[in-house]
Amino acid sequence: MKLKAPPGTEDILPAQAGLWQRLEATAREVFARWGYGEIRTPVLEFTSLFVRSIGEATDVVEKEMYVIGEGDDSLALRPEATASVVRAYLQANLHKVRAFQKFYYIGPMFRHERPQAGRRRQFHQMGIEAIGSLDPLLDAEVVTVACELFGAFGLSGFRLRLNSIGTPTSRRGYRELIRERLGRQAEALCPDCRRRLERNVFRILDCKRPACVEITRNLPSILDHLPEDEREHFRRVCSALRSAGVEFEEDPYLVRGFDYYTATVFEITHGALGAQDALCGGGRYDNLVADLGGPPLGAVGFAIGVERVLMALRESGQAEERPRLDVFVATVGGDVRPAAFTHLVALRRAGLRAEADYEGRSLKAQMRSANKLGARFVLIVGEDEARQGVFRLRNMATAEEKVLPDIQAVIAEATTDRGSNRCA
Ligand code: AMP
Repeated sequence: MKLKAPPGTEDILPAQAGLWQRLEATAREVFARWGYGEIRTPVLEFTSLFVRSIGEATDVVEKEMYVIGEGDDSLALRPEATASVVRAYLQANLHKVRAFQKFYYIGPMFRHERPQAGRRRQFHQMGIEAIGSLDPLLDAEVVTVACELFGAFGLSGFRLRLNSIGTPTSRRGYRELIRERLGRQAEALCPDCRRRLERNVFRILDCKRPACVEITRNLPSILDHLPEDEREHFRRVCSALRSAGVEFEEDPYLVRGFDYYTATVFEITHGALGAQDALCGGGRYDNLVADLGGPPLGAVGFAIGVERVLMALRESGQAEERPRLDVFVATVGGDVRPAAFTHLVALRRAGLRAEADYEGRSLKAQMRSANKLGARFVLIVGEDEARQGVFRLRNMATAEEKVLPDIQAVIAEATTDRGSNRCA
C-alpha cells in the first residue's frame, strides 16, 4: 500500500495555507477591481476539448494529459483553464447575452511532467480571460493586471517580455522561412527540435538548450514578417503599456506552448526561480471561440502559476507570517477548566482568535504555548479568580496584569489595538 502523496503533488499544511489564502484573497480583490468575475469550471473535461484547443502536436496534449477512458467519451484532467472557460462561456450562451465578458479563475491543473523544482503534476493557476474584443487596449489591460497582481503580492524583480506571433495564416511565410533556415542546420539542433522541424517548428524558438538558442537567435524577427495591421496592433499594445508605466521588453523569439495563441503573447519570469522561471504566460487567442463552435470573437488572457509565485516570494525573503493569537486561556487546576471553556467560547464568538490547553499541561507549559503561538494576552483562570469572579489578563508584551470584572471587559481590552492581527 502506498501511503504517500503521488510524485509531483503536495499537501498544503496549515503552516503554509495562510500564505495561500493571502495570495488568493489578494488575487480576488485585484481581479474584481479590474472587472473580472469568478468562473469555476469542472476539473474534468472531454479530452477532445484540449486536443482541439491546445493542439495535437503540443507537449501538453501529446505527453502530459491525464486521460481517463478512450474514444469520444474520454475525459482528461484539465492541464489549463482557458479552453474550459471558453467552453463554459459558449455552453451557457453568455455570448448571446453580451459578447464581451471578463472572467477569472483560481484552481488546480494537472500535467504528467517529470517532477522537479517548480514543475509539479498538480499545480495551481490563477488567471483571467477577457472574451469578445479585438481591442489592443484589452491586451494592455490584461498584461497590466498581471503586473499589478505581482505588485499586490509584494513581489518585485520580475521581467515581462512581449511578442506578436500573428495567426496561423499570417505567420505561414515566416514559418516556411525559419523551417528552411533551421532545416539547413538540423544536425546542430537537439533531437527534440529536429522532430519539431516537421511538427511544430515554432517550438524550436522556445528550446532552452544552448546549441538551439544560439541557432535561433540568428533568425530574423517574426515582427518583420507579419502584415501591417498586425504590426500596428502590437505597436498599440506596447504604446498603451508604456503610457500605463508598465515596464516590458520586446522579445521577437518569445513563443507559447499552445496552438491557440494568436497575435500578442507575453511571459513574466523571475530571476530567483532557476530553470523553471516562468511565473505567468498569456496572450491573445482570437480563433479559439470560433474553433470551439462560437462566433468569431477575439479574446486575451493569462495564467499565473501559484506555486512559482510562492517560491519567488520565499526566495526573495518574504517570510511567512503566522496569524498571531489574541488570547490564550490558561488554567490552574482541573476544576476551573469548564469555566475557562465558557470564556474561550465567548472570546471566539466576539471575533477574537483564542486558544486554550487541551492536553492537561502545567501553567508553565501553557505559558510557553501562549508564547509560541504569539498570544498578545493570556487570560489566567485559577481557583482564586473563579471564586472571586474576576478575570486576570496578562499583556504578554508589557508583562502587565489587569484584574477585570467580567468577560466583556476582557473582550474590550483584547480587541483594542489589534492592528494587523485581525482574522479577515
Ligand atoms: P502555461 O499554462 O503553460 O502557459 O503556464 C502558465 C504558468 O503556470 C507558468 O508560467 C507557470 O508559472 C505555471 N506552470 C505551468 N506548468 C507548471 C507545472 N507543471 N508546475 C508548476 N507550475 C506550472
